[in-house]
Amino acid sequence: MADLVRLRDDLRADVEGRACGRLDSWLEQFPQTVRVGEGGIAFRGAGTAREEILRLAVELVLEQRWRRLRACPDCRWVFYDQSRNNSRTWCSMYAGETGRACGSIAKVKRMRSKKATQKPEG
Ligand SMILES: [Zn+2]
Repeated sequence: MADLVRLRDDLRADVEGRACGRLDSWLEQFPQTVRVGEGGIAFRGAGTAREEILRLAVELVLEQRWRRLRACPDCRWVFYDQSRNNSRTWCSMYAGETGRACGSIAKVKRMRSKKATQKPEG
């Protein structure tokens, strides 16, 4: 379990740094065997939870979708950015299953700090 938590933290750090060096280190430690065919690649053998996560990450890199992963700067939830221009910042604007409304919270904080710095009129 501690292993999976370390893997999660490393993958999140890669996403936050827009890199994949930590993923590469994990693959060096736990190499995966692939087969190639007309349908693409397939990993060989049944995987443990750790291997399944590593394989999913590799598939995202191969499909050029790894760069679409974002970590919310507030709650650090990692999500897939489906926006057209690949520019989503927050996990969610609304609290719910997909996040805790970090976008709205940040917006309110910004507005409050703006108001606090404004000089009273008159
Ligand atoms: Zn968030």
